[in-house]
Amino acid sequence: MSTCSVPASCLVTFAAALALLSAAFSIQVTSAASSTRKYRLPSHVKPLNYQLFFEPNLASNILAGKMIATIAISEAVTSIVLNGNAVLLTGAPSLSGRSPLNVTYDRDAQMISLNFADPVPPGIWELYVSFTARINTRLSGVFRVASPPGSPVDLHSIIIATHFEPTDARKAFPCWDEPAMKATFDLTLTVPADLLALSNSPEVSRKVITHSSSSKNQSAARVEVRFARTPPMSTYLLAFVIGRFDQPLKTVDENGINIRVYTPPGRRHEGSFSLGIANKTLTHFGKLFGTNYPLSKIDLVSLPDFPSVAMENWGLVLFHEPSLLASKDTPEALRAFVATTVIHELAHQWFGNLVSPAWWSDLWLNEGFATWLSYNELDAIRPGLIDSRSWFVSTELLSAMSDDALEASHPVEADVHRPEDTAEVFDSISYGKGAALVGMLHDWLGRENFFAGLRNYIRRHRFGNAATSDLWKALQETLNDRPAGEPSIAEVMHDWTTRKSFPVIFASIKTDESGCNLRLRQSRYRLPGADRLHDRWLWRIPIVIATQDGDVIRRVMTRSRMTIQLPNCGWAMLNPNATAFHRTSYPRSLMTELLREAVRGGIRPSGRLLLLDDVFAMHAADRVWAEDPLHAVHVLRHDSSLQVWTNMLNHLKEIGSAVPVNNKKALKNWQRYVYNLCLTRLRAHNSVGLKSLLTTCLGSVGDRDVKNWAVKAFPRWLNGTRPDTISPDLWSIVCRIAAGGSSGGIGVSHFWHLLSVLNRTQSIARREEIIGCLGAFEDKKRPEVEKRLISLALGPELQASEVLCLVDGLSSRSVWRLLTRHWTAIARRFEGPYMLKRLINGLAFRSTSGIRRVRRFFRSHSAVGIQDAVRRQIERLSVAAERVGKDRVEMRVLVNRVLGGRNSWKRLGWD
Ligand SMILES: [Zn+2]
Repeated sequence: MSTCSVPASCLVTFAAALALLSAAFSIQVTSAASSTRKYRLPSHVKPLNYQLFFEPNLASNILAGKMIATIAISEAVTSIVLNGNAVLLTGAPSLSGRSPLNVTYDRDAQMISLNFADPVPPGIWELYVSFTARINTRLSGVFRVASPPGSPVDLHSIIIATHFEPTDARKAFPCWDEPAMKATFDLTLTVPADLLALSNSPEVSRKVITHSSSSKNQSAARVEVRFARTPPMSTYLLAFVIGRFDQPLKTVDENGINIRVYTPPGRRHEGSFSLGIANKTLTHFGKLFGTNYPLSKIDLVSLPDFPSVAMENWGLVLFHEPSLLASKDTPEALRAFVATTVIHELAHQWFGNLVSPAWWSDLWLNEGFATWLSYNELDAIRPGLIDSRSWFVSTELLSAMSDDALEASHPVEADVHRPEDTAEVFDSISYGKGAALVGMLHDWLGRENFFAGLRNYIRRHRFGNAATSDLWKALQETLNDRPAGEPSIAEVMHDWTTRKSFPVIFASIKTDESGCNLRLRQSRYRLPGADRLHDRWLWRIPIVIATQDGDVIRRVMTRSRMTIQLPNCGWAMLNPNATAFHRTSYPRSLMTELLREAVRGGIRPSGRLLLLDDVFAMHAADRVWAEDPLHAVHVLRHDSSLQVWTNMLNHLKEIGSAVPVNNKKALKNWQRYVYNLCLTRLRAHNSVGLKSLLTTCLGSVGDRDVKNWAVKAFPRWLNGTRPDTISPDLWSIVCRIAAGGSSGGIGVSHFWHLLSVLNRTQSIARREEIIGCLGAFEDKKRPEVEKRLISLALGPELQASEVLCLVDGLSSRSVWRLLTRHWTAIARRFEGPYMLKRLINGLAFRSTSGIRRVRRFFRSHSAVGIQDAVRRQIERLSVAAERVGKDRVEMRVLVNRVLGGRNSWKRLGWD
């Protein structure tokens, strides 16, 4: 079953419908206007309730629908305007018996206008329309996915599902598709009797339909499934899913909420981990937010393909399979990822669903809160799974800082108008920076004050909408015991949410007759070459200082400089738990003291991680030489934290790429030395994640022992002679090292063998691992491999999300060739920005000519919703290219001084 193109029959039907409609009504298609106001709906017509009747036709890929919308009109209108995108009205619409004079479509604004001859007076009205929409294969609106090719024939099935966030409900039915236009929904689905049908609310009735469908391919036995009325909610949260699943795993939480997990047939046991997490999360959040989960049921459904990891539809959360299922073989990092994904989606049931953003500019109120809660509350819900604090820093905070340092960044409260702009703000700024700001507030106000304020906020806006200013107000009202003269929450947070970028604080200790003083100076963190226009920006920064004697000092820094008298003259460290969104720079002497304290165990892993990353960031900003970060790595080489090591090794790889060719050997020797030190730590701590990372690193520097082991172990795993040779955590890494292209890897026959294993594999997580390894077999001498990889990327064999895994494993040269030679096919397959963005982020040119080629290509080849992603990636590449140029000069000196000989540390005074 093809999942990458719209069948020709569907296009014919769509064109025919358009022709029919043109004959039936007077249609005018308006051209694009420049005003951003035209993208917003008029406020004097509001929906109160939708009665929706959907009947999907699996043979023609058409969704036939009827809608009776109860609407409130507050002032006389001659047009009823609502959203619609490729939705066609198929009969005469009627407004409580009145027929419109004509219907006009504005494709650019995605709006449909029903125009009346006489003004419609204010009041409550019923709008009746019938319509058709397309069931697509592009994972947006109403879409179909098939179970993977590896599924046994009797379990193979088609699933129809929805994904409406942010602006795709209008692809399924005409509606008021803005988050503040909340209404209740009464949904009825007519579906084949042998398929399961789920929606936001519980099923209330099921009726067998006697008439058979017009299509002979349709199953004759059909049922009409009616669902209970939903609470008032935004259109983007409406959802349904139709398909064949295993019997659900289910439980009832302590408040009587029915929780069910739906898995593919035959894999029911893989849902039990998520069921346990969901059960604890609902109860925990109910207590924390002072409001219980407001619906009577919640379903968590696994889908073989999905445009993102999951979607929080109220009462019907849809997951891409690897984000929900976990078996006993699931690696620990993936298990932690499943747990945080489930918690994130359930947090949205309050932050997003119960209280929705007033407009998409406030998206961070959804994503920032759900992201922060998923890490911060993980230990309360599932203790001992992972060091959640340093994991948050590593996966969310640092990548948000990295993106927010770019000129192409945007404020957390983003300025969005057009439908395609809304999709652009689903990025690391709304998620990671948003979450970091929530964490900063929590740390500044204290847990008790913070959650009292949140309870106030939820109570006030439940079943409604809120803007960022509403949150500040609710938090401020519940505050107790604040220091005199402290600025208000709105004053402090305004600096952080309404402008892009963030500050760096330069900290030093000066001793005089009055004692020891910590001197602080803030300035905008700026990469070389960035615009100096905003260099005078100041932030009101809630700062936290840890001192050598264990004191914690808290202040709000409101000016460019600040001096704080320390209670003692030892070291002092800012942001010790990485709770604030700023960088810190220390003079070398203070940095050395802090690193020593880190080695002694006096600084938590999250603090050590930020300390290390800050010094690399200062190097990237041209504030320190490469010697400083390398020194930090050297001092921290006995660290025990996986996240600290991950950061360290990733930076080393980056710096390694800048080493001049004639010094490569010296650098590799040094890297091998560091990795082996890490291996020593690893034996003591037995962290599987660290083991995976080190194996990758040792493989990347051509460590002979690791390579020899991989080349022997992998074929044994593949042939099934020793399937237990490789642990699940290491499997994909071993595969990549063993494949190793021309550098003495295993033969190409193993590539074809691996493909045959893929065709027998059902688990999407395992399939993605296999697919991610295929690119490692690429080699100039193996054109047949490259040809097969391209056919996989463009053909129907892989799910769309699987293609992204394939691309992730390809060399940047191949990614570029794929994009440039097959752009039309790629852009069509990945319609919508989510997936195209991932492809664009995979471009990794480091030469100025390569970056020029990227810029030139995207000038003439673009797609809806990717402009910001392209700008950001080009800037990332340019910054990295400039850095490599500078590092080359620095490293030429440094490598000879530092990495040349056995006692080089001592010569530099590092030991
Ligand atoms: Zn989310």
